[in-house]
Amino acid sequence: MTFTGKASLAGVIGYPVGHSLSPRLHQFWLHKYGIDGAYIPMQVHPDNLSKAVRSLPLLGFQGCNVTLPHKERVMNDMDDVTAAARRAGAVNTIVIDNKGRLIGDNTDGIGFWQDFMFHMQQWDPAPVLLLGAGGAARAIAAALLDIGKIPELRIANRTLWRAEQLAQELGGPIEVVDWAEREKACRDIGLLVNATYLGQAGQGALDMSLDFLPLTASVYDIVYVPWETPLIREAKKNGNIAMNGLGMLLHQAKSGFAAWFGTEPKVDHALTAHMLEALNHELRDGVG
Ligand code: NAP
Repeated sequence: MTFTGKASLAGVIGYPVGHSLSPRLHQFWLHKYGIDGAYIPMQVHPDNLSKAVRSLPLLGFQGCNVTLPHKERVMNDMDDVTAAARRAGAVNTIVIDNKGRLIGDNTDGIGFWQDFMFHMQQWDPAPVLLLGAGGAARAIAAALLDIGKIPELRIANRTLWRAEQLAQELGGPIEVVDWAEREKACRDIGLLVNATYLGQAGQGALDMSLDFLPLTASVYDIVYVPWETPLIREAKKNGNIAMNGLGMLLHQAKSGFAAWFGTEPKVDHALTAHMLEALNHELRDGVG
């Protein structure tokens, strides 16, 4: 690493923020590419969110990530937002432009898709069943529709009205499925995505038989703690291709890093192994 005296600054704002994996991820890339920069975890109470975010340009930051619980509220503090952030209704990446304006983006959905394609290389368009209608599901749904590769998006959520609201807001080829019908809705799909908390360490299990899931369908669980969720285990046992959401976390980080530090980073096996080591620590310490 060369110290130029002009370190580029970025970080992640959350509350709490201690368990965020983003500092470890960005430090890996800063070190790998020999960049004089720093990526700082910033614990900001919701009452101070606006003041903290508006101070970033004054403090010399190039931008930052935003994590729970601020992703939605921080939109109000942006000078402008990208189409992806508007469609997702949330901001996870802020870039400060050369006029000092805060530009909010949402990279969760594209991160999901890039990771899925990274694993699959090729995928024949087919209906997708998305479980969940929360923040992550919303970003994924918007990206899937905007990429325009899927003929139909089925959304099943425990709270039906949330799925209906999401479908109405996003528009396009969406069918809202009753939560109780999620198993049957797997018929003829090419991809099942779990974007709920279910299966995450410390949360309930996703109670769902995969009997109707075609063998050709892939399964993507955006949860990655534990590394192999019960859904992934079951899918693999049935012979389906299945993957967890760590890659989504890695891919969603790329555009922020490129904007703040001026280098397009790569997601590779060395980075995945580095992150897995941190996850193993978390699991050993009983953190979910
Ligand atoms: P969120 O906005 O709070 O949404 C939570 C979703 O889970 C909602 O659809 C909720 O349904 C559903 N849910 C919660 N408990 C449930 C239960 N007992 N039964 C059925 N459904 C239940 O959270 P989020 O930000 O979208 O995050 C969801 C998960 O994705 C978390 O595990 C998070 O760690 C993970 N995530 C991963 C990445 C990644 O990069 N891999 C990125 C973002 C999030 P209701 O609407 O009915 O409450």
